[in-house]
Amino acid sequence: MDNVYQEGRQFATSYILPHTEMTDLESRFPKESFQELGAQGFLKLLVPEEYGGQGKGLVEHTEAVLAFAETCSTTALCYMMHNVALMCILTHGSDELKKQIFTDVVENGKFLALAYSEIGTGTHFYNPEIRADLNGEYTTFNGVKSMVTSATHASYYLVLAPSVEEGKINNWALPIEAEGLSFDMSEWNGLGMRGNSSCPMRLENVTLDSSYRIGAEGSGAQQVFEVVAPFFIAGLGAVYSGVSMHLFEITSQYAVDRKYPDGSSLSNIETVQIHIGDIYKSAAAAKAFVLDAARAGANGDADGLAKILGARIVASESAIECGRLAMRIGGGKAYNKALPTERLLRDAYAGQVMAPSVDVLNVWLGKALTGQPIP
Ligand SMILES: Cc1cc2nc3c(=O)[nH]c(=O)nc-3n(C[C@H](O)[C@H](O)[C@H](O)COP(=O)(O)OP(=O)(O)OC[C@H]3O[C@@H](n4cnc5c(N)ncnc54)[C@H](O)[C@@H]3O)c2cc1C
Repeated sequence: MDNVYQEGRQFATSYILPHTEMTDLESRFPKESFQELGAQGFLKLLVPEEYGGQGKGLVEHTEAVLAFAETCSTTALCYMMHNVALMCILTHGSDELKKQIFTDVVENGKFLALAYSEIGTGTHFYNPEIRADLNGEYTTFNGVKSMVTSATHASYYLVLAPSVEEGKINNWALPIEAEGLSFDMSEWNGLGMRGNSSCPMRLENVTLDSSYRIGAEGSGAQQVFEVVAPFFIAGLGAVYSGVSMHLFEITSQYAVDRKYPDGSSLSNIETVQIHIGDIYKSAAAAKAFVLDAARAGANGDADGLAKILGARIVASESAIECGRLAMRIGGGKAYNKALPTERLLRDAYAGQVMAPSVDVLNVWLGKALTGQPIP
């Protein structure tokens, strides 16, 4: 893939768009789109070439997520989490684990998800409280993860759990077949992102040998802050700047198409022109910031982390503001759901609460800019 963004846009038009409306209306996971993501090589975007993948990195991850989000935020968000999980396997997984999971992704179209958050620790997902009891070569898990996007559809779930080393954590790859693993499928009723299937996951005496632990004992926090953070936070920036661009595309077209009896259109009205300009400025600025942040992160620039945090905050707030203005321009038709505007506004609201939440990120950004440790 030479131009991931362009190819992602074309892919989205052919294979995501046809399912987008039903994904929301029926709260239905976009499984047809995921089959095609496998068939067309997007699931293996970050898998190294020696394992049959595309060998791409943070910039292409961000471009692909952005391209999909400009058509369907749910599909983009689920895909983004798969890429984040892959990066943990890639950077810290044993050769055996890489071979197993990368082969499943490349040859069998399987994908991954993140089971990190818990009801108790909420947005501070890097402080897991589930039980992980070591017994020789085996670890037994008990507890509940609160919101697991792609639940039942993904084949591997990355789970953060306490380490035997006091105060440390581990990152595990749980295969869906693991005995004792189940999902409370009726528990997802999101305001937006309705096709995500972000359900609680129960672990009841789930037992794994240490080959499923990603990296050395106690290395989970390092993975969270060095791998998950850049790919996840830049990825969320891509999702929500994509929502803003999508709102711009829908609203500007609607303003041209909506005609009054005298033949004039909504777009002839100066106030509407100003609103559309505001949506465009906000969406384009968020998109540019996110892409620049991904490049800075990939280059290892000194301000790479600050840019990624800042871009995700800007993108999340932009999506809500663009949605608010787009609803105003869409008038009664948007309100009565004749336009997809209200769906995108509902999707946009997930941005500010997804971990690490915008409030938490604002604190982290200040710390990053003044050289203080995060979190
Ligand atoms: C659409 C969607 C999909 C999700 N998918 C996944 C997934 O796949 N995997 C997964 O692990 N999780 C997932 N989550 C869970 C999510 O990322 C958060 O962990 C969860 O929503 C936090 O929930 P909470 O209400 O317990 O947060 P709380 O911890 O109760 O925080 C609530 C609010 O309090 C404020 N706050 C809390 N602490 C601080 C602080 N220290 N400083 C400043 N403000 C603070 C913030 O405004 C925050 O938004 C998903 C969530 C959504 C909405």
